[in-house]
Amino acid sequence: MSSVFDDLVGQEHIIDILKGAVAASRTSSDSQEMTHTWVFTGPPGSGRSSAAVAFAQALICTGQGCGVCNECQSAATGGHPDVEIVRTEGLFIKVEEIRELLTRVAWVPSMGGWRVIVMEDADRLTESSANALLKAIEEPGTRTVWLLCAPTLHDILPTIRSRCRHLQLRTPSVDAVIQVLTKRDRSSPKMADFAARVSQGHIGRAKYLATNESVRSNRKVIMHLPLQLGSLAAAFQAAQTLIDLATEEASSSSESKDEKEIEKLKEAYGKGATGRSIATGAAKAVKELEKEQKSRATRMIRDSIDGALLDLATFYRDAMLAQSGALESMINSDMRTEIESYISSFPAHNTAQKIGAIMDARMNLAMNAAPLVTCEALMCELARI
Ligand SMILES: [Zn+2]
Repeated sequence: MSSVFDDLVGQEHIIDILKGAVAASRTSSDSQEMTHTWVFTGPPGSGRSSAAVAFAQALICTGQGCGVCNECQSAATGGHPDVEIVRTEGLFIKVEEIRELLTRVAWVPSMGGWRVIVMEDADRLTESSANALLKAIEEPGTRTVWLLCAPTLHDILPTIRSRCRHLQLRTPSVDAVIQVLTKRDRSSPKMADFAARVSQGHIGRAKYLATNESVRSNRKVIMHLPLQLGSLAAAFQAAQTLIDLATEEASSSSESKDEKEIEKLKEAYGKGATGRSIATGAAKAVKELEKEQKSRATRMIRDSIDGALLDLATFYRDAMLAQSGALESMINSDMRTEIESYISSFPAHNTAQKIGAIMDARMNLAMNAAPLVTCEALMCELARI
């Protein structure tokens, strides 16, 4: 029988705990036995929010997470009255948002089961929003369950951390990702092997690569940039290419999302509604949504540049491996010839320095440095050292 937990790749140790908690929540008459706050941590792509959403589905589904019933499906898309999925497009979750959320989730669950709140980016809580949340977590309603997601436990304020049960997700192995891609997404074994290897356990990225020709060809261009850094002019050109491709990738996925959201919003206002005040309300809501979409687009471009830089770092990582003769552990085994010709012209210690320069550039970007200038400085450095 299928279950919402099937898609959690390589997380068997967590699935057992979650299934146990779901089963106990059915048999126990005392809701005090339920853990009311959970924290899911794990590296990007390990599926921490998918795990939290699956748990939410299983808690409210009469089949303990069948994945096909109305409850399960509406919970996954945020349409279930007892399941609240908090997603953040901005850089922070503001205290007003938390206050508004708390008034919304204060009622008892409509279906008599659990009221579950999934917060996908709990690491983006500001100190004041975390404090506003703390009270709700300290004294949860007897039928309320909070599921917080963050990269690491250190991203959660200590006061909240001490009141949670912590579940740490693992980075799935390359083999586990290959299995999902071939079985669930029907990728060819060769494509699955390539996508799983180069995305290093990031399932979403692996699927995106395996199913998207233009993403693969953009990646190929980026992975060949280290071979073209012969002059400063070429370095500037390489920086521009990287920014252009990363922007293109981010925009193509956000534009279609944007249009769908606006359509949906207009539809929601249009249904059975007429009159001037409704039209004003709709226009205001559309404007608000467009603002949010713009900030999401900026974030997606930054994430996409970061992804491109991480890809680039794997080129130099592989060059170091090739220099030490460990060819079988290469991530980019499809570029073996290029990497071998690269190492014949560059000494080993420079390769380590280059990886360091890429990591510094990523850190600067994370602190909001201007993307193009940062990449230009990086490419010039890579050309020089
Ligand atoms: Zn179900």
